[in-house]
Amino acid sequence: MRMRSYFIETWGCQMNQHDSELIEGQLRERGLRPAGAAGEADLVILNTCSVRERPMQKIVSRIGVLEKLTRPPVIGVCGCVAQQEGASLLGRSKSVGFVLGPGQIGLVGEAVRAVEQGERAVLTGFNADSEHNFSTIFRKSSTRGMVTVVEGCNEFCTFCVVPYTRGRESSRSMTDVLTEVRSLAAGGVKEIELLGQTVNAYVCPDSGADFATLLDAVAEVPGLCRVRYITSHPRYFNDRLMGVLASNPIVSRYLHLPFQSGSDTILERMHRRYTRDEFVELIGRLRTAVPDIHLSTDVIVGFPGETEEDFLQTMKLLERLRFGHVFAFAFSPRPGTPAAKYGDQVSEEVMKGRLHRLFELTDRISLELNKELVGSAVAVLVDGDSRRDPNDWQGRGEDNRVVNFPKTGHETIGDVVAVRIRRAGAHSLVGDRDDGVSRLPVIGQA
Ligand code: SF4
Repeated sequence: MRMRSYFIETWGCQMNQHDSELIEGQLRERGLRPAGAAGEADLVILNTCSVRERPMQKIVSRIGVLEKLTRPPVIGVCGCVAQQEGASLLGRSKSVGFVLGPGQIGLVGEAVRAVEQGERAVLTGFNADSEHNFSTIFRKSSTRGMVTVVEGCNEFCTFCVVPYTRGRESSRSMTDVLTEVRSLAAGGVKEIELLGQTVNAYVCPDSGADFATLLDAVAEVPGLCRVRYITSHPRYFNDRLMGVLASNPIVSRYLHLPFQSGSDTILERMHRRYTRDEFVELIGRLRTAVPDIHLSTDVIVGFPGETEEDFLQTMKLLERLRFGHVFAFAFSPRPGTPAAKYGDQVSEEVMKGRLHRLFELTDRISLELNKELVGSAVAVLVDGDSRRDPNDWQGRGEDNRVVNFPKTGHETIGDVVAVRIRRAGAHSLVGDRDDGVSRLPVIGQA
């Protein structure tokens, strides 16, 4: 059966979102066209994530819904769950046509061809020599371009599946990354987001250049307004990198730096390989070097063995370090990881209660930090229509905070405009365009 249309559903992090762009590009290259909904597509891709929540349950229930559609599509399961579960996913439903892990993302065309020839394909594992063909990526945003710089991870945190599902850490060559960034900038992209599970562990396989060198070189590419990078690991955040952040206005004043727990006992059990004091000291140095840096972090609540005292250590750290945004999740065991086998699992009820207390605290801090911006002018890169009101734009400030403002008719997507903030919420800001601003770090508009 020749497949003509596709629909992609993506869960999880930026890496997965970017993988969906790679998948979409290959499907388009094979002549498939996007369908408006899963029920109208010949092929539905489930690009799965197994880092958070209950991935298998979610996928099984989604497969169940899709196979009951009047015209059931072929289902392609991709992402981390595909790598973890492999061929067993074919047994879940006759509709599952292929299973394709993140390490085989370049083989979507092969998988589709197999299905069209009446076969079912399982493509998992990792090829050391797989090439990163960025020319086929279908990018959804015209202003922002995601660029992978490091694949996989070597850290083996005891709760995490990434080293097993995405393989060992492997950096792309700096020349290759810069070629991709230049081609995006030449096509009008204003903001680059460098991606890696431990992006700042980057080491160029050809020259040995580190992440600070790469970041500096990317920020030199003409036409860019901003360069962001995600996710950093505290262990690889060195003074050289801080120096690049401090000296280069193109590099975003936003940093996502997961700390996961404020308790040394839990950090050790997580195999994070830093202590609470080391993390606090790092943030101190960072804020001295870049005073206007806006920080976000990840926290796991209810890791096995977490006592009330351990949790209070996390709360105290949050109170002390004042992150602008906190991505907090209740621990849930991932098959095959050491933490899944720990005997002292925390009850759902206790985790729920702790998470609730944590969000009360972090929402209050986010609101306080956002209120500090009321009355000031922010350089906003316009991303598109506001989700709440099509008469408003939505964009992001240099520190990645979401800003909404009424359209004036004189700006469009991709512009950087000055917006004076008039109202703050815990998760976004509201303002008005203000062209009277004389000194604003509006960059890249020359
Ligand atoms: S650093 Fe730890 S949490 Fe992050 S991807 Fe690697 S193993 Fe997972």
